[in-house]
Amino acid sequence: MNTDISLDSNATTTVLPTVVNAVVRALTEVYGNPSSAHSIGLRARTLLTAVRTRARRVVGAGAGKLVFNSGATEGIQTAVLSALCSIKEQRERGLPAGSLLLYGATEHKAVPESLTHWNRVLGLNLDIRTIPVNIDGRHDLETLRRLTPDAALVCTMAANNETGVISDIEGIGAILEGSNALWLVDCVQALGKLPLNLASTRIDYAPFSGHKLYAPKGIGMLYVRSGAPYTPLMIGGGQENGERSGTENMSGIAALGEVLAELENGTVFRDHTALEKLRGLLIDTLSTSFPGIVFNTPLDKSLPTTLNVAVPGLSSADLVDALDAAGVCVSAGSACSAAKALPSYVLQAMGLPEWRTTNALRISFGPATDEATIVEACRRIRHCGEALRRAGMLAGAPESPLNGVVQVAAGKVNSWLLLDAEQGMAVIIDSRPETRERIATILLRHRYEHVIELSTKDAVTWPYSDDRITVGGSRLRRIVIGAQGVCYVLETADGQPRLAFTGELGRAELASVLPSNTILCGGESEATYSTVKVQQASDVDRSHDIHLDRCGLQVLLREQPSTALVDVREAFEHFASAHTDFMEFTVNVPVTQLANALPAWLADTDRTPIVFVCRSGNRSERAARHLRKLGYEQAFHLSGGIALTPPVPLTGS
Ligand code: PLP
Repeated sequence: MNTDISLDSNATTTVLPTVVNAVVRALTEVYGNPSSAHSIGLRARTLLTAVRTRARRVVGAGAGKLVFNSGATEGIQTAVLSALCSIKEQRERGLPAGSLLLYGATEHKAVPESLTHWNRVLGLNLDIRTIPVNIDGRHDLETLRRLTPDAALVCTMAANNETGVISDIEGIGAILEGSNALWLVDCVQALGKLPLNLASTRIDYAPFSGHKLYAPKGIGMLYVRSGAPYTPLMIGGGQENGERSGTENMSGIAALGEVLAELENGTVFRDHTALEKLRGLLIDTLSTSFPGIVFNTPLDKSLPTTLNVAVPGLSSADLVDALDAAGVCVSAGSACSAAKALPSYVLQAMGLPEWRTTNALRISFGPATDEATIVEACRRIRHCGEALRRAGMLAGAPESPLNGVVQVAAGKVNSWLLLDAEQGMAVIIDSRPETRERIATILLRHRYEHVIELSTKDAVTWPYSDDRITVGGSRLRRIVIGAQGVCYVLETADGQPRLAFTGELGRAELASVLPSNTILCGGESEATYSTVKVQQASDVDRSHDIHLDRCGLQVLLREQPSTALVDVREAFEHFASAHTDFMEFTVNVPVTQLANALPAWLADTDRTPIVFVCRSGNRSERAARHLRKLGYEQAFHLSGGIALTPPVPLTGS
């Protein structure tokens, strides 16, 4: 069964069953508009008032306002707008108002983006500055102390969403004591995890978000200290006492009410000590499963529900994919683009070394998580560690070495590797600046020490007197094509060309030296695979029937039981998913190693259907298109990938 465990609660949480019931009740029984004067409306108003009363108690709102809204991004906007309008007014009246807008360097992007936006919209031209953080992720209080006399607004967070670091709110409050600066504290990650008594502090604005604590997305609330300036972001029908117009999201409010009730009852949410125990299980498991792992957050100063880690030599993208395959969903602690993980600005601000900012992984659970879930997650994490070790992605000798032809793609270019694990020999064809680092990592991980670099642009890179050498049981032949360049042909023992590495050489040049059906492995991603023979448009463009949904796949498997189900994920994902997969794969051919299988597939004149499968459907679609382009009409892929396919058993040949 494929029952993914989310360890990504700082991104969002599931909705508790009791909360779902409260939503259903609000949608079916208490469905009124709280502004209506009739009984149905009155019942909705009563619910609204009860939830607000409870919310005020839970956050310790005292005489302050508590306004329901759509979530923390809206709460942050409203707070920033309120503060900036007040600063503008002060200035216009000739009263002293600071000139600086300060925000912590690790704030959620909603904060600096709102500051920039409203500063521009209101034409204030205030100076926006970051408050640096120390290596432990906490604000540098000395800088804050120095800047406070000029500060108009100070924005900090109670706890960080990437690292879980808990801010020194008391320390910040003490520095701001006596200053005129307004103070916004993003409390999103604090609710349910840290005690709150807002009215006893100097905090002016505190936004909250429901979906970070078991309520649905689209509901939140903003605390505003009694007497703090307030400007509504939304104006209209005068709901929320005129402070946030728009008919109230009553099902969201009911949901939030239920969560707050659970918080007060203390039966569903675990206390700090219990959560620390769960975190301890994860720490032990991660430490033994991933040698050399480092913890990016000081554990004694962070939420017990958040871990930020980095594993040497393992990018966060690979680790996220491996854990996902093992049935554990976590997030990269950094922003990921398709090719490369971007470093986390939060960890950069903490001054951590680059590898820890690009390899960062965030593991977070919610305060309602039970021990059984964490124990099962730990089992899967251990399994994932084993899979990565087996595939050579962790320190130590790989059990399953990378062998044969490997495509290393980056942006629009390809480099190719021919690997002979037995001899420890690697041939690199057309190393490029874009692919160099990835190639080095592969060779290092898999301990290829005897390396030859060849270029399709230059015949002199060939270090042999003979035009043929042996690589991994095949023969590699050099063919110099006049002044245009060189192609390298991988041949069978009896001299039949299997694959040709052709860089940017054109068909016309190759046609004179290669049989027309030789599979060409090109240097540009647009022409990764082709043949000398000019393709028929019908071979290339019949893309409409390439996608199979789950039903289509079932029909195909029933009608043609010999259909091959090919997992095109990387080997480590394939190994990691072994126990959660609901498909019986015929074979695992990572999309980067497709070249190895192409000759045999294309030799199958029966054209047995091949269905490629991966996690999201991207890699599998690419593989199917490659095969179609080579004239294999029976190539398909599972659209949406394993992630979208419900976990009901499917079998292949
Ligand atoms: N602030 C913090 C610390 C967060 O973690 C998030 C959510 O990612 C937000 C603000 C934005 O919250 P919402 O999704 O409710 O707009």
